[in-house]
Amino acid sequence: MLFRELVDYYERLEATTKRLEMTDILAELLSKAPAKIIDKVVYMTLGELYPAYVGVELGVAEKLALKAVRQVSGAGEKAVNELLSRHGDAGTVAMLLLRSKEQTTLFAEELTVEDVYSSLEKIAKASGPGAVEVKTAILSRLISQATPLEAKHILRIVTGAMRLGVADMTVLDALAKAFGGERDVYERAYNLSSDIGLVAKTAAEEGVEGVARFRVKVGIPVRCMLAERLSSAREILEKMDGKGFAEYKYDGERMQIHKAGEKVSIFSRRQENITHQYPDVVIMVRQRVKASEAILECETVPIDQETGEMLPFQELMHRKRKKEIQKAVEDYPVALYFFDILYLDGEDLTTKTFLERRKRLEQVINEDERVKLSRGVLAVSIDDVERVFAEAVEAGCEGVIVKSVSDDSVYRAGARGWQWIKFKRDYRSEMIDTVDLVVVGAFYGKGRRKGKFGTLLVAAYNPGKDVFQTVCKVGTGFKDEDLERFTEMFERLKLPHKNPRVDSVMQPDVWVQPLVVLEIIGAEVTLSPVHTCGRDAVKEGYGLGIRFPRYTGRIRDDKKPEDATTDEEIVEMYRRQLKKIEAE
Ligand code: ATP
Repeated sequence: MLFRELVDYYERLEATTKRLEMTDILAELLSKAPAKIIDKVVYMTLGELYPAYVGVELGVAEKLALKAVRQVSGAGEKAVNELLSRHGDAGTVAMLLLRSKEQTTLFAEELTVEDVYSSLEKIAKASGPGAVEVKTAILSRLISQATPLEAKHILRIVTGAMRLGVADMTVLDALAKAFGGERDVYERAYNLSSDIGLVAKTAAEEGVEGVARFRVKVGIPVRCMLAERLSSAREILEKMDGKGFAEYKYDGERMQIHKAGEKVSIFSRRQENITHQYPDVVIMVRQRVKASEAILECETVPIDQETGEMLPFQELMHRKRKKEIQKAVEDYPVALYFFDILYLDGEDLTTKTFLERRKRLEQVINEDERVKLSRGVLAVSIDDVERVFAEAVEAGCEGVIVKSVSDDSVYRAGARGWQWIKFKRDYRSEMIDTVDLVVVGAFYGKGRRKGKFGTLLVAAYNPGKDVFQTVCKVGTGFKDEDLERFTEMFERLKLPHKNPRVDSVMQPDVWVQPLVVLEIIGAEVTLSPVHTCGRDAVKEGYGLGIRFPRYTGRIRDDKKPEDATTDEEIVEMYRRQLKKIEAE
């Protein structure tokens, strides 16, 4: 497939403002792409080269990428910087510069998708001393063979700034459209493999039947099962027909650990390979997990060296560094609390009930000071749940997660559902809990904030429609550094028009790519005539908004935009508030 053909689709995708049209264009692209390279087409369209768990990142710095453009176009640094500040997008800069010298370029052979992909692969893999020069040289060569329009998209891919607004869920919809069958089949395969390229390739080669044959596999991360939330023990038990396994909700980092003999791999909540940050966990798993092959889940919590008590999760930040990890291991020790098992010595346990999985987990984990099973009891009364809750909070946990023990309490990969219900400390009927919302637009500030983005338009995620629906404008809680940082960040992410996956009536000064998730707290959820989240769910013609929203200071970069608080959760919060008011 010629890269030019792919770029034509990118241009069409970029131009559309309608979600459905976007899926149609993508479906057309996927049915045209040869099976041999469809995985590459999918990764590139998402601005990636591999699934996240492979852990190879492309992210070439914009400055470096533009250096390659300068080499090819002969433009000076000043001209490049001027164009960049005018357009805010390295891709457009590359296109304009190459266009102006186009007549002088000799006609070269046309680039294929494979050509571009393999060059990008080489760029991503170059490492060690001299890597920067190698990357620039490969990129220059690639750009010199590209047309200006192709160069625009190449630059966007290498700098990690694809602006098509296509996400995993959009690709799944398009796959179902292109290859037939229910979308759920594709979603399940994706949830079990975390590899959307592989799902696409299987669909193209074997049809939907092949996609339906996906199974969990050690070494390949499974997308996490997630919890819903409620604000009292009574509501939780009502939802679970009077019975549930109430566990401590530890506040640390979720890990999915894959053990194959002595080889241990650790994946984050977003399926990134984080094994290198936790060499101590690798050893603990080798010593304390009695299985040759297993996939397990735990919450990893920082602990005090001396007392062994749990510390706030922020301490884990020290593990995120690249160098001197051994020192961080000594200074910031952790404890593991295992809460689930998905696979054991040849047996897929995701289809087993919660209690069966728990039994297996208890057999496999050989506890010690630092490796534990999550604490929990089978709760059959409000009293039981409240007791565990009080204990958990006293021990330094966030609250409890109550898990269904019903016959269909299987492990639901990639799903947030009522099988697991969290009940956190500080949940009251007023909105004391935080929400995680996606920035979709920004407004310029006034006075001291002139020239900066003083207010952000934020949105909840609607998984049913795969769109982001606005909830509020947030302008408080920003420190000076935040304003600087956000201005820089959103200048880069700004778009010429609304992203098709954003549902908004409100018009911000600039639209931005829906990528950044912020933690927000507010006073209460209210009916809103302007916001689109929960529109018509509570009252005809009204959506829901958040009153007095404030940024807590935390960017949830551990969450993808699709992991943000959902519209349903906001509706649920509103309903709970009403109940509280009625009760008073
Ligand atoms: P939050 O923002 O509340 O941390 P989240 O959106 O990251 O939530 P949720 O599905 O709401 O994820 O809550 C489940 C998370 O709680 C898990 O991802 C896991 O990290 C953590 N957790 C702590 N203790 C447990 C436990 N015993 N069982 C399951 N998950 C647990």
